[in-house]
Amino acid sequence: SSFNSFGLSSAMVSNLKQLGFEQPTDIQAKALPPCLARNDVIAMAQTGSGKTAAFGIGLIESLKPRLFAVQGLVLCPTRELADQVAKSLRELARARDNIKVLTLCGGVPIGPQIGSLSHGAHIVVGTPGRIQDHLRKGTLSLDRLATVVLDEADRMLDMGFQEAVEDILSHSPETRQTLMFSATWPADIRSLSSRYQKDPVDVRV
Ligand code: AMP
Repeated sequence: SSFNSFGLSSAMVSNLKQLGFEQPTDIQAKALPPCLARNDVIAMAQTGSGKTAAFGIGLIESLKPRLFAVQGLVLCPTRELADQVAKSLRELARARDNIKVLTLCGGVPIGPQIGSLSHGAHIVVGTPGRIQDHLRKGTLSLDRLATVVLDEADRMLDMGFQEAVEDILSHSPETRQTLMFSATWPADIRSLSSRYQKDPVDVRV
């Protein structure tokens, strides 16, 4: 199979080719259809499986570029992962004009982030604690959020981010799409899914 069979824009298909993505990985082949159909998805996926593009392609394709508001939010357990995800999303976003991806992680001063947010962003990638700080300060609005992704959800809970993740999910619109990617499937992840996802499609590779 190739990326031609998913109903992607021709700009995205040729961008994927330029990135050297000729064939979808297993997780991409299975997760792309429900992600593009705007279903909620719970995917068991390891690092290196191609999970970032599995959620990133649909995220980029569904953005309204002229709506200069946060439409996609990706929560990550660490700054390292957030930086890596943001880099991948910026590569995928070359298929479209003027898509702004902003990283918001803890451990750095919040002031410059507030400045960046004031210029607008389509996608925010960050760690839960700092995202929560911005929500409390009113410097980040999730009113127009269409898709939220929990990347490495099991690691986020292991790192003590459960309360922050739940707080963020409760502050996001009911109509959002919720995508969860996790390497393992423990009870706390199942519980999170059952409370915050609607009829999730189960994807395993
Ligand atoms: P990830 O699991 O998202 O961290 O991706 C692991 C690596 O695989 C990254 O370097 C991606 O650029 C690469 N990758 C993702 N999807 C594909 C694909 N369909 N074909 C080739 N490489 C890919």
